[in-house]
Amino acid sequence: MKYCLNCGREVSDEDYVNGYCIDCFRKLGNPFAKQPSIEVKVCSKCGSIFYKGEWLQENLESIIRRHLMETQGKFLIGPAELVGAEPVGGIQEVSRGLYVQKWVFNLVLNGKHFMQFENNVNITVTRTVCPRCMARASKRIAAVVQVRGLRASVIRKDVEKMIEANAGFNEYILDIEDAQNGFDIRFIDQLPARKLAHEIARLYGGHVKETFKSTRYDSRRGVWLGILTLSVRLVDLAEGSIVRYNGELWVVKRVDEKGLHLENLVSMKSITIPLAEYWSERVSVVENYYVKGVYEVVAVDKAMAYLVNSESGELREVMLSNIPFQIKQGDYIKILVIDDKEYVVKHTG
Ligand SMILES: [Zn+2]
Ligand SMILES: [Zn+2]
Repeated sequence: MKYCLNCGREVSDEDYVNGYCIDCFRKLGNPFAKQPSIEVKVCSKCGSIFYKGEWLQENLESIIRRHLMETQGKFLIGPAELVGAEPVGGIQEVSRGLYVQKWVFNLVLNGKHFMQFENNVNITVTRTVCPRCMARASKRIAAVVQVRGLRASVIRKDVEKMIEANAGFNEYILDIEDAQNGFDIRFIDQLPARKLAHEIARLYGGHVKETFKSTRYDSRRGVWLGILTLSVRLVDLAEGSIVRYNGELWVVKRVDEKGLHLENLVSMKSITIPLAEYWSERVSVVENYYVKGVYEVVAVDKAMAYLVNSESGELREVMLSNIPFQIKQGDYIKILVIDDKEYVVKHTG
């Protein structure tokens, strides 16, 4: 038989806690065998916290809570189990590097009795600079994403916006620099650089080539250190370019993650082909063509369209069968000459 040290009552096992009955324990007992405490390193530049071998960008209170839950066996008496904890009030500095914060602890005793208890948590803080801030400060470059192609300058603003909106990229970037035929994004870490390179290739139509240049050997870790270069080659086709594909002529309408969106110059048929077709050189750009002129449609009859050149005033007739789209008086069309053959296309803008 067990008896309560305070009231002398006979107590069953499940109501007996450290010498007391549950009622007396609630009034007099202390579920803590030891004051809870935590030691953390905090980066004085970015505020991230080093805990359990990792630099975390999490607030201190959530790290303390996690620590209290995980290490409760060390500071609670045997019958007590911690089921939750919340801070009450702020963090007070006691002395240099030592802080204290009051927490309310939700406990279950003997797996049966709920109890709330307030206690201070001691927090020892060491200030340092995290490796990421160190790398930034020393401008140690781990990776470079090189975006190259005719459209690089066009997509740069969008890429910068995407970086700004994503801390997973932003925090690892040293700077963005102009480069010939494109721009460079310099990273302090390789993983986010590789992620961004593939994201740009996916979104804007390109492919990624990786090269690694070792700069020195780290004998302690047994690895080569160096700079990873991720070259993102964009498809060099602008909207409106004329290409030859499958022996036919096409106008490029758009380039995106789905591929090349093409419109047939003669039949006006639209197709989308994978970028692989471009990279395997099955799509060739038609460079040597010229615009004969922009014409206004002045009249249309059963077989013919009658056109006037807006600039020179030149008049001409075109068979309707040679115009792959509907026209009416007042429309504007453009005549392109490719390999000495004339093509009528829509005039936009
Ligand atoms: Zn009692
Ligand atoms: Zn930092």
